[in-house]
Amino acid sequence: MLPQAGPRKGLNSRPIIKQDEITRYLCQGKDFIPEADINGLLENAKNPDKKTFKKILAKAFSIETLNPQEVASLIKTDEPSRWDEMADVASRIKKKVYDNRIVTFAPLYLGNLCVNDCQYCGFRHSNEAITREVLSVSEVKKEVTSLVGEIGHKRLIVVYGEHPKTDIDYITKTISAIYSVKVSTKNGMSNIRRINVNAAPMSIADLTKLKEAGIGTYQVFQETYHRPTYSKVHPSGTVKSDYLWRLYSLHRAFEAGIDDVGIGALFGLYDWRFEVMGLLYHALELEKTFGIGPHTISFPRVEPAINTPFNEKLKYRVSDDDFKKILILIRLAVPYTGMILTARENAGIRNEALNYGITQIDASSRIGVGSYQSREDIHAKKKEQFILGDKRSLEEVIFDLAEKGFITSFCTAGYRCGRTGKNIMELLKTGTEGKFCKLNAILTFREWLDDFAKEETKALGEKLINKEIREVKRKMPGMYKAFQENYLKIEKGARDLLF
Ligand code: SAM
Ligand code: SF4
Repeated sequence: MLPQAGPRKGLNSRPIIKQDEITRYLCQGKDFIPEADINGLLENAKNPDKKTFKKILAKAFSIETLNPQEVASLIKTDEPSRWDEMADVASRIKKKVYDNRIVTFAPLYLGNLCVNDCQYCGFRHSNEAITREVLSVSEVKKEVTSLVGEIGHKRLIVVYGEHPKTDIDYITKTISAIYSVKVSTKNGMSNIRRINVNAAPMSIADLTKLKEAGIGTYQVFQETYHRPTYSKVHPSGTVKSDYLWRLYSLHRAFEAGIDDVGIGALFGLYDWRFEVMGLLYHALELEKTFGIGPHTISFPRVEPAINTPFNEKLKYRVSDDDFKKILILIRLAVPYTGMILTARENAGIRNEALNYGITQIDASSRIGVGSYQSREDIHAKKKEQFILGDKRSLEEVIFDLAEKGFITSFCTAGYRCGRTGKNIMELLKTGTEGKFCKLNAILTFREWLDDFAKEETKALGEKLINKEIREVKRKMPGMYKAFQENYLKIEKGARDLLF
């Protein structure tokens, strides 16, 4: 049976949805996803002529957000050679904005209780095959001790179901517990320096508490921008069934002072072309209203989950070929944004996606609640939201990246040095952030190599670092001296020095 939540209340009877925190953002009673216009654009857009095609690519390469007509016409592009050209520009945009670094992080699931009943999710309330659990503060600290002490992560995305037991007070308490863990390593110290949060939409009052907890990015995925599909997969009577409460969750975040937000769509629920347009309209709306677009975009594909037959018979399942098109389109459409590709995808797809502009990937991921400290059942299906596609360790991922010439970055400097919101947008658009990225990538990679790498990885990593340092000397002579000083300090055991 569904919880007695009712559309306007949570299980603890505390009103969750505040209508005035939706309506204040509507424009003449309308939201910013014009379904009929999107359908019209997708129907009527044409494969662009050569001149228009080149113009659109040049606009993307100048790090300007594309407009809906432009993206619809790219979607309609049908010649393989044009997709190759688009992929090439996507990869060059990534290099221009973010250099050759790939940021790495780990997901940390703190609870799998949920009042909602999303048909695709293993955590849905009606799924009796799931073993329910919420970690205590001391269990959270044990999870983090494994993450920072054994694996070497510095950045997390913490994930919560929607439930009174994992409400904002639990969220802020666990965030502060995570930041408090510091572990001595072979040559220095390791700790979590940036916590991004993926949690249900909240009120402005709760988001203000979240901001005060000191988070990095606040992510909410709309799942599907297509309203009829949204209603089908989120049963009425659940909090999540309110499309607009979710659609405006990041507007409320901005109002609460969180100026670093991540959007996403769950691909496979509806036609991917519509979802790409939805993500674009969302980015444009945030740019227009707050002057700041999404810091990251995520594009999970629906994965199998225990006792979840819905995921076996998806009408709109996205093929690998279409998935690559999605990545390329997003890279071109919102050129400044970070793009996250999680371990939902297998290693083959993730490796290939590096060529289309991905900026962040997770590694050594375990998504069962309490599974990092577990010694046996590390991928316990009964505790997981879905089944992981890429189970490579962080060390394996780092090795694969280094072989391809990508430097793994554990950088968490951005928000701690005030590079968020409008600041970061400007730095990204002008290619300046890429410079900080490079310096911080080298320093944090050096830390990880000294503290956690096996000999073979260390040798490969050092070759890459030496090449990067030569580049810093050549391309950033003004910063070289300060960089070198920090680098030497890190070699001697200092940690967490930022640019
Ligand atoms: N409960 C919060 C919410 O719904 O906003 C936190 C999000 S949930 C734990 C993280 C994301 O996982 C969801 O927003 C959804 O996009 C994704 N997800 C859920 N079920 C999935 C599945 N079977 N395969 C892949 N991704 C899934
Ligand atoms: Fe709950 Fe989020 Fe899963 Fe929906 S997607 S059932 S809200 S955890």
